[in-house]
Amino acid sequence: MIHYKELGLVNTRELFKKAMQGGYAIPAFNFNNLEQLQAIIAASVETKSPVILQVSKGARQYANQILLQYMAQGAVEVAKQMGCAIPIVLHLDHGDSFDLVKSCIDTGFSSIMIDGSHLPYEENIKLTRRVVDFSHRYDVSVEGELGVLAGVEDDVSSEQSHYTKPEEVEDFVKRTGVDSLAISIGTSHGAYKFKVKPGESPPPLRFDILDEVERRISGFPIVLHGASSIPQKIVDEINKYGGKLEDTAGVSEDQLRRAAKSAVCKINIDSDGRLAVTGAIRKVFYEKPDEFDPRKYLGPARDALIELYKHKIINVLGSNGKA
Ligand SMILES: [Zn+2]
Repeated sequence: MIHYKELGLVNTRELFKKAMQGGYAIPAFNFNNLEQLQAIIAASVETKSPVILQVSKGARQYANQILLQYMAQGAVEVAKQMGCAIPIVLHLDHGDSFDLVKSCIDTGFSSIMIDGSHLPYEENIKLTRRVVDFSHRYDVSVEGELGVLAGVEDDVSSEQSHYTKPEEVEDFVKRTGVDSLAISIGTSHGAYKFKVKPGESPPPLRFDILDEVERRISGFPIVLHGASSIPQKIVDEINKYGGKLEDTAGVSEDQLRRAAKSAVCKINIDSDGRLAVTGAIRKVFYEKPDEFDPRKYLGPARDALIELYKHKIINVLGSNGKA
């Protein structure tokens, strides 16, 4: 076993405390490969933002857990070398079992999510409590979830969303001992979040639910999943260069900005990054069909990611300068 502190990583406790006091949110960006990680570190160091490196079960299978461990350690060293030792968290996204959580903690994760949101309430509590008891022994922070998001993301999918019931949050937090709570207030997983016609706006987030949750567990860190904005500009670029994405819309950045100022301390962004990479690669393939050096298309994809992440950090989450 390797403990995350040996890798130079931190858990989320201090970061969320400061984010709560400062009225901003910490970015949680998913990664599975080198260019994504390079982009996350470059954007976070340049903006002096703390960051959560997020790995799903699928990403762990794709990239290899040992490699991921050394990549996270490498990220810490690279940030130092770039002149700003930003706090870096290595977080398991949507952990679905005790064994997976244990395996992640054994390989250096500093924070984990246990997602029992699809289970009946009492079973969600039981699973989450067991994971919390184990994780806290190693000072690893735990995110639980109440309510179900619609959409598809790796292994997690649901046809319908079920908003979080504010009357359950106090009991859940108290009985499980989690350090943060993901809630469902109308965000959604994946690139096809809301079926809207061009020019129409997606439904607004349920700030009434968020307010009621905040009232009931005042000062407790809240997490938003499925918070990509699906920028029309990137969708248009993908389609211009041979892609075939359907009409879609994401969560408006205005709404996320408002959420970041509240008890929301962590905002997950994955789909926007996937779109930015796809757009950049398609553009190179379209404009230079004779190109066959992967650096010549993965490089521009990395640059597009850096721009996207910096924009999110500065203009949406407000975590710039908080490292
Ligand atoms: Zn999620």
